[in-house]
Amino acid sequence: MDEMDKRTDLIGLSQAELVGFVQQIGEPAYRGRQIFAAVQHRRLRSFDEMSDLPKALRERLRETATASTLTVESRYLSEDGTRRFLMKTHDNFPVETVFIPEERRDTICFSSQSGCPLQCTFCLTAQLGLLRSLTPGEIVEQIIIALNDAYGVGERPPRGTNLVGMGAGEPFLNFDSLLQATRIMADPQGLFIVPHRVTVSTAGVVPRIRELATIPDRPNLAISLAAPTDELRDVLMPINKKWPLEELLGACREFEQTLKAGERFTFEYVMLDGINDSDEQARQLANLLNRHDLHAKVNLIPHNPADPLPYQPSPATRVEMFKGILESKGIHTFVRRPRGRDIFAACGQLAAVTQTVGLGANSQRG
Ligand code: SF4
Repeated sequence: MDEMDKRTDLIGLSQAELVGFVQQIGEPAYRGRQIFAAVQHRRLRSFDEMSDLPKALRERLRETATASTLTVESRYLSEDGTRRFLMKTHDNFPVETVFIPEERRDTICFSSQSGCPLQCTFCLTAQLGLLRSLTPGEIVEQIIIALNDAYGVGERPPRGTNLVGMGAGEPFLNFDSLLQATRIMADPQGLFIVPHRVTVSTAGVVPRIRELATIPDRPNLAISLAAPTDELRDVLMPINKKWPLEELLGACREFEQTLKAGERFTFEYVMLDGINDSDEQARQLANLLNRHDLHAKVNLIPHNPADPLPYQPSPATRVEMFKGILESKGIHTFVRRPRGRDIFAACGQLAAVTQTVGLGANSQRG
């Protein structure tokens, strides 16, 4: 165990938990609220910067706690403005985060695990295997680092922030930490990024989809499909062998029935040239969703090629044809524009790679 392991990561505590923590070390409750605001609202990552706290308290905090556990190893800037951060945990595991500026609001794509245990064959992250799941503090700190880098420490994002859990890892295999992070970030005295601004993408961990259906303040859900048949999905996303399409879409139907106003539910479909993009497959996909009475929209994501993955992106005309067939069968369909491909920041490219080829945190969500 290193020194960091023994100290409490304050970024992973809710406001109420932080109040409890300071009371335990003999401080009044308001100090907990003050520290929560310093960490989550002013986005300060060192006790030295919290000059409104008494010096003696800062000393004690340094011994028992930390306000930062991630370090940024590299930062890449794409020509389209996307930023990719390659970070390390205190115990040296890679974490990748991507900041994507958009006209109406910015999006931060965060990782839920270092590496990923699932074996999606179109995803570079899969090649890392699972290194370890991230703590709630490590999830929240990715957002703090990206916001500070884009706007300056503690500066308010001018356009608001959307979060997507589509970086490295399967969020639903780190479910409790994900939900704890979501609760912390929703606090109006902190980052104040509410759950309906957060979307998490799962490869199809059915029991957690069912659990999410029972949770009131939950993030939006996206399901990575990638194939319209079990035969093909077994190959592209081997998790399908555990929870095949019938079971997955049954759980999706149950989830969809619990949707409330303002909540979003989508399917993601990575487009792989000659693999899953034929007219016949578009019809199969439409029939599959219609048969399960699902009304969620489908996002088509052109594959982001990355050596040594054996796939190429579908040509734009093919994507348009596929979209046309889905729409003719009543499926709302959008084509997602790839961002940050030049810096390995696009979907499916996260494998903690340093610039030219790297292991980064660009997982490919299909
Ligand atoms: S696509 Fe997502 S779930 Fe699949 S291996 Fe990559 S990171 Fe894991």
